Amino acid sequence: MARNKGASLFNLKLLNQLQIRRVIYYNGPLTRQQIANELGVSLPTVTTNVAAMLADGLLTEYEGESTTSHAGRRPQLVDFNADSRFAVGLEFGPYGAFACVTNLRGRILYKKELSSPSKNYERMLIDVSTQCQMIIRESKVPPHQVLGIGVGLPGFIDSQRGTVRTGLYSSWADRELAADLRRQTYLPVWIDNNARMRTYWREMFSGRDTPSTFVYLFVSKGIACPLMIKNDILAGKHASAGEIGHTTILPDGPICPTCGRKGCLESLSSEAAILAQVQATLGHDTTWDIQKVLMAQRQGNSTVCDIMKQAVGYLGLAAANIFNFISPNLLSIDGLIFENEENRKELIEVVQSNLFGLSTEEAKIEFLPHNSYSGASGAAAFVVRQSLLA
Ligand SMILES: [Zn+2]
Repeated sequence: MARNKGASLFNLKLLNQLQIRRVIYYNGPLTRQQIANELGVSLPTVTTNVAAMLADGLLTEYEGESTTSHAGRRPQLVDFNADSRFAVGLEFGPYGAFACVTNLRGRILYKKELSSPSKNYERMLIDVSTQCQMIIRESKVPPHQVLGIGVGLPGFIDSQRGTVRTGLYSSWADRELAADLRRQTYLPVWIDNNARMRTYWREMFSGRDTPSTFVYLFVSKGIACPLMIKNDILAGKHASAGEIGHTTILPDGPICPTCGRKGCLESLSSEAAILAQVQATLGHDTTWDIQKVLMAQRQGNSTVCDIMKQAVGYLGLAAANIFNFISPNLLSIDGLIFENEENRKELIEVVQSNLFGLSTEEAKIEFLPHNSYSGASGAAAFVVRQSLLA
């Protein structure tokens, strides 16, 4: 009985520390009293737990500006000691592999483009663990302060089990990637879908104000839309929430090479779909890539402009459906095609003319600048989250 009581007190302490870390991470710096008010716990509880985390070096404190005109004690603010721990993030995307090392607040201390991982699963495990050791060494962060490794991958990833259901290569399917990499690297490893990793980047590392509920529309070779609901990504019962790319938009549309059905959003508006349409219309013999398509659009190539307008129009319909269905505080859009202003305008126009019951101000949209490293950085954010905030 006494032992159970001891165990439950220990668990309560851990729970308190977790709650305190979450409040400080998302709202800090804060005074101890503000933390106590936020959590509805006593000031001594906060003081004891904060003291433990200060001693550990995870938190830091400093004098804030006095809020009153009286000369008196300045408030002591508590915040994360951003350089007390580090995280390694990797993204194996459809356009390349990227790695970075960040601190707890997303400052990138080291980054590197990697060669694409081997299709051979065993070979890939060895390559990736060797690369991780090299990355940690070259970043010059103390190895014992590295929390772990995060890996973002396209496809259907079961993050909780650490397995790839379907992904880059069929030879990786159903393999226990997180556990296998953990054995190779001797570090904790977490994996998730790369669009979800970018959503964590947006929430934790982008330096922008982020509502606790928002959606992240990622338009790349494929299309996905993770949902961040009250600071947690909705995974759904089968880890498939957010797969808007394979919802049908045009029943008689082109066949999607991924899901095999006709007219899903990805078959109409992904970079792969846009490229396929440009090639089908203007010829396969030219070396079209998405950058060249965007350039042609800027130069006023009427065929390309028509293809882009249609592709962005379908994305606009999907985005309006998202607003109508879940009414997020923000729709954050990450896609190279939105570097062209014309496409941003077109999307906003289509969204606004398809809203139901929401004003145009309530349907808040932002376009994020393209960044090759936000997936890798998001994977590092996921490590911070899983280690300290979950
Ligand atoms: Zn599809």
